[in-house]
Amino acid sequence: MDPNTKTILFFALFSLYSSFSNISVAETPYTYDQNPENGPEGWSKLEHQWKICNHGKLQSPIDLTNARVSSAHDDAWKIHHKPAEAVIMSRGHDIMVSWKGDAGKMVIDHTEFKLVQCHWHSPSEHTVNGTRYDMELHMVHTSAQGQTAVIAVLYKIGRPNEFLTTLQNEIKTVGKEEKKLGIVDPRTIGFHKQKFYRYVGSLTAPPCTEGVIWTVVKKVNTVSMEQLAALRDAVDDGFERNSRPVQETNGRSVWLYETNV
Ligand SMILES: [Zn+2]
Repeated sequence: MDPNTKTILFFALFSLYSSFSNISVAETPYTYDQNPENGPEGWSKLEHQWKICNHGKLQSPIDLTNARVSSAHDDAWKIHHKPAEAVIMSRGHDIMVSWKGDAGKMVIDHTEFKLVQCHWHSPSEHTVNGTRYDMELHMVHTSAQGQTAVIAVLYKIGRPNEFLTTLQNEIKTVGKEEKKLGIVDPRTIGFHKQKFYRYVGSLTAPPCTEGVIWTVVKKVNTVSMEQLAALRDAVDDGFERNSRPVQETNGRSVWLYETNV
């Protein structure tokens, strides 16, 4: 089966599932601690709707090893992000920038996914050949049918990240209430679109809903030590490390799309 057909197939199956499942904000506290009660190993026991966290077969993140290389076709993804009104807030377990206006979309195989929000994890959640990077940004998109597609960008310590530089004062004073940022241009996030990993997984935090189309940018970007520290300071105590361990792939295909192969 070619990668395109495979993605569509997963899509069809899980759009049905996603439309009935409830993607609500987590109320029961979950942690990233290594304890079986409320840490990642025990998330499924905290809420009935979170059962899939520990019993699903398409969970994220995963280690992106042995990806099958495929030539990127025109429909693999198109991005049309644009500036829009946004707010910033702490969700306790992470810091989130959420767009209130139309921040544009990405299109995968003719399905449109609108950009809703972005947030950060540190260290990275996805690993590449076993390497865990210092930070990972998730740009969450949803379709009219309630399907989710996420763009993930990996970062290692180095030069400051432009997008975080524009937000630095707001991150220092962030609270649990939404704070207006004015117009935020998602294009300043800046990443290479030519090479990317693609697979079908889940939300990486409860309720761990499956059927999420992941696009992990291959090119690793940089973030300064100070920027990373500011993000860790801004979350609740105990969430300085807010990345879920890698999950079993269970035979899933991971594709590495390359333009110009
Ligand atoms: Zn995330």
